[in-house]
Amino acid sequence: MHFYVPRTAESAILRLRRLIIGSCCVFCNRKSGLDRDICCACEQLLMPRIVRKSRNRVNYLCGLCGDEQTEYCSPQEFHDISNGQALSAQGFFCQQCQNTNTLFVRLLAPYRYEFPLDSIIKKLKYGKQRLLGRVLGSLLASFAKTQADLPQMIVAVPMHPSRQLGRGYNQADDIARWCAKDLGIPYRSRAASRIFDTGSMAGLSKSARQLRILGAFSAAEEVHGKRVAIVDDVLTTGATARELARELYDTGALSVELWVLARTSSAR
Ligand SMILES: [Zn+2]
Ligand SMILES: [Zn+2]
Repeated sequence: MHFYVPRTAESAILRLRRLIIGSCCVFCNRKSGLDRDICCACEQLLMPRIVRKSRNRVNYLCGLCGDEQTEYCSPQEFHDISNGQALSAQGFFCQQCQNTNTLFVRLLAPYRYEFPLDSIIKKLKYGKQRLLGRVLGSLLASFAKTQADLPQMIVAVPMHPSRQLGRGYNQADDIARWCAKDLGIPYRSRAASRIFDTGSMAGLSKSARQLRILGAFSAAEEVHGKRVAIVDDVLTTGATARELARELYDTGALSVELWVLARTSSAR
């Protein structure tokens, strides 16, 4: 469901500036040289990636449970990890989670939910700074481009209409839209909807979240036979995305993957 949101003066100025001098970095205000509002220097410096490497040691957060993991590897393995920093069905899960059935054929979570990315996501989410949706969407897209066999359709985790009316927009929707545009994959904003309002789930345990989200989503027939990626801003327990995935499979989706900007650490 979409609601009319008036464009702010800030947005109009930025749009004009993009037209005249191209994209500027939203962090340092310098010309970005890229079509995505973040310069290479800031992208390198600002973002705490989910995989951290030093010499022969690799640290990462488990994609499923968020536990910090440390592995020692050979130079070749180190090189492979450096080039494909993806959490996929094949790797980056802790020993305990490796044999867990995830529902997701692929899990992309390029960054840790830490400063400064957490503050950027909060600004998009609560500060009405919707321009950040483009930066975050394109960061997710540039990460997805490193993957093979991209999905046929992107959906965002939907908000309940009454909540969306209150906020004026859905931040996952903004991220998904820009991400899909960069990748040239169709974005289907009406392919999934939220039937009832689950309220805020912040602070709830994993099982409490699972219980509350049961049956909250409805998927449209257009997902039938399609390889679908769910896009969201942050992955915490994954209860919401799993419930949406279950609904997509029930409606006939061929496969479902989960793409999020950032993963929270279980140590938080
Ligand atoms: Zn910059
Ligand atoms: Zn784990």
